[in-house]
Amino acid sequence: MAGIVVVFDFDKTIIDVDSDNWVVDGLGATEEFERLLPTMPWNTVMDTMMGVLHARGKTLDDVAGVLRAAPIDPHVVAAIKACYALGCDLRILSDANRFFIETILDHHGLRGYFSEINTNPSRVDGADGRLRIAPYHDFHAGPHGCGLGICPPNMCKGQVLDRIRASAGADKRFIYLGDGRGDYCPSLRLSQDDFMMPRKGFPVWELICENPALLKAEVHPWSDGEEMEETLLRLVGRVLVEESKLLPLDCKLESMPGVAVQDGLPMPLRIKN
Ligand SMILES: [Mg+2]
Repeated sequence: MAGIVVVFDFDKTIIDVDSDNWVVDGLGATEEFERLLPTMPWNTVMDTMMGVLHARGKTLDDVAGVLRAAPIDPHVVAAIKACYALGCDLRILSDANRFFIETILDHHGLRGYFSEINTNPSRVDGADGRLRIAPYHDFHAGPHGCGLGICPPNMCKGQVLDRIRASAGADKRFIYLGDGRGDYCPSLRLSQDDFMMPRKGFPVWELICENPALLKAEVHPWSDGEEMEETLLRLVGRVLVEESKLLPLDCKLESMPGVAVQDGLPMPLRIKN
């Protein structure tokens, strides 16, 4: 297995929309959502909105149906499958929630490619079938303690990334992909051997551009699924070559089982269905 851990944000990174907004808009509750947003943390709003939708007669199946229609770029799907086939350890780190993420991944047959989904927990209330969404960090018990001042109260992705690194093993190299303000804290915690892939023109990219010297990791921006796939596979290929240290890209990768080289990019021959 390659010594690469690829950490994906979910909303506007794996899927091309924000799943929270997608569900609220798709079930016709945008007005109520916007009314609540200034009054409580986003995570709490989403739990409240699930109650509002439930009271309006929307079932869990209605929520799942909207989630299954969320757009995902085929290049992103291809990138996930290629990284997996090349031996990368794929993880999700998202401020959405487990039900939304698993519903979408299951629909696209992608769940098995990820070794871990780090997100806000969700559960279905057995009595009435209402979805409950809880914070990743229980901020009612106390603050998560990140001093950056950007992370939402329910999730500091930087702290979660530190935990992932501790569990993955010391010699792993990380590639982190994200778009939002919450992805900035983990980008600051990446090392000089890691790679940050911010979505160009999105909040994390703008924060990085304010002072690029604060990041130790190399920064490789991307705009859309096609550019994400190309950039991610190029970086994975580069790390694989650096790991081998002996042979040039084409020789080494072509000698690896299950890998071919096309246009200088490593391409898996066997894709899991
Ligand atoms: Mg996002």
